[in-house]
Amino acid sequence: MPQTLPPNLSAAQFDRALAGWRAIVGDAHVLSSDAGLAVYIDPFAPGEPHAFAASAAVLPASVDEIRAVLRIANQYRIPLWTVSTGRNFAYGGAAPRLTGSVVLDLQRMNRILEVNETLAYALVEPGVSYFDLYAHLRDKGYKLWVDPPAAGWGSVVGNTLERGFGYTDYGDHAAAQCGMEVMLANGDLLRTGMGGVEIGTAWQLYQPGYGPSFDAMFMQSNYGIVTKLGVWLMPAPPAYLLGEIQFRREADLEAIVEILRPLRLDATIRNHAVIEGGLRRAAGLSPRRQWYDGTGAMPESAVQAMLDKLGVGRWNLHFALYGTPELIDARYALIERAFARVPDARLTAARHAGDAQPTGGGDRNMAGIPAMTAFRMLDWRGGAGAHVDFAPICPATGRDAMRQYTMVKARAAEYGFDYYGGFTAGARHLHHIFAAIFDRDDANQVEQAGALLRSLMSDARAAGYGEYRAHLAYMDFAAAQYSFNDGASLRFAETLKDALDPNGILAPGKQGIWPAAWRDRRGYT
Ligand code: ADP
Repeated sequence: MPQTLPPNLSAAQFDRALAGWRAIVGDAHVLSSDAGLAVYIDPFAPGEPHAFAASAAVLPASVDEIRAVLRIANQYRIPLWTVSTGRNFAYGGAAPRLTGSVVLDLQRMNRILEVNETLAYALVEPGVSYFDLYAHLRDKGYKLWVDPPAAGWGSVVGNTLERGFGYTDYGDHAAAQCGMEVMLANGDLLRTGMGGVEIGTAWQLYQPGYGPSFDAMFMQSNYGIVTKLGVWLMPAPPAYLLGEIQFRREADLEAIVEILRPLRLDATIRNHAVIEGGLRRAAGLSPRRQWYDGTGAMPESAVQAMLDKLGVGRWNLHFALYGTPELIDARYALIERAFARVPDARLTAARHAGDAQPTGGGDRNMAGIPAMTAFRMLDWRGGAGAHVDFAPICPATGRDAMRQYTMVKARAAEYGFDYYGGFTAGARHLHHIFAAIFDRDDANQVEQAGALLRSLMSDARAAGYGEYRAHLAYMDFAAAQYSFNDGASLRFAETLKDALDPNGILAPGKQGIWPAAWRDRRGYT
């Protein structure tokens, strides 16, 4: 591979910038060789992996080092792409949107700065993973739980900034965030909310502060580098219950959503319950070739035979209840009665003491224990498994859920993909997550996965749905769907971008937001 350079920069200028960074962070923490940069290539690229290649990576160890790194980036106008642990797999991994950007990798800043058991929060640096925070709480004996996302090796900061979600009552990670420290492109350091009070007492306790509130501005944006983040933690409950309800028919999805919504709205169910498609549930138990080895999407008859054999529902609702046994039992009785309305629904549940540790990955997540459930899907199709996700927001109505499901399933089959997906339930919306699973060594499958994603996004747009998150390759396309008043929200985002980062050095193109300097790079790939 020829060396990738930052855009509009000569090799000699780049060498001078690299030397400057080496003097700040140390030789070992500036990577520019092919071998050193291998981890910054998107492992699941739905296309040519080098389409989003970094030119180097710089790994600072402190806020002061970040400021010094920024000074050089501003001097040479080199774009930086910030990652915390860089495991944003299925959305681009650690790779930058603009080819030739330098990855600013914050994994070395991995201190857990504070845990407060009384007020139930932690303050962490970007390199702290869910595994790290969980181990720390357990080792020190704090009676607090983390809310892990599907892949526990990701960072609390990275996942929260991308508005990721988990499976306990604290599943909405953006909502459980309280107080950030952010470095702006010019090196200025800001603390949000109550963090503005110099020797403060409530930075991690009260989100708004005084006047306008900025935290959400630093999520899914390129306005700053988040160097510290507060996260609310769930007090360890005395008991919890994990429940699963299996449903037999595809059309049951409508009833499931209609019954679940009121239970989420009145907080009988408080966790992000998951309505898991049968095929996704089955993929956790066996590989596809055991059931079907033809090309194209698995036929209905094979899917049904697999579900029957494995004893898995067409839809499988996973929920969890936390609290005292009395409260759990009362809420459980309401849930049992509500879902009894669906013919042939099969409910199983087990109540555990608060400190019990279930063994299955999905169950562990609902018990506040990080696991790597996100990766079980990779074996489904065989070969070098990878996936790219389509993630539209769905109104929490049975009609919308059925509409999205049938739309995605039909389109996926057209391109030769199984419906591997499900819905994660907020109170008023569902995150609909569909994964196009492909063998990245099979060029045709890679191409079809990319083509499918583009079709799905067009379908969604035509039906009035928008995505909550998108792979690097589709960030511009996803942003363009938010087109009210000729794209007023993107215009606003770019006005802010130009004011905050006039040299356009922080993550150009992230979420479709391009600084003036690079606006000609926008591309609806
Ligand atoms: P994880 O490893 O938890 O999956 P990443 O570190 O890959 O998360 O971060 C996901 C995305 O969030 C990155 O691609 C980047 O756009 C953004 N991001 C991550 N960390 C920061 C940070 N500290 N400041 C600003 N943006 C960040």
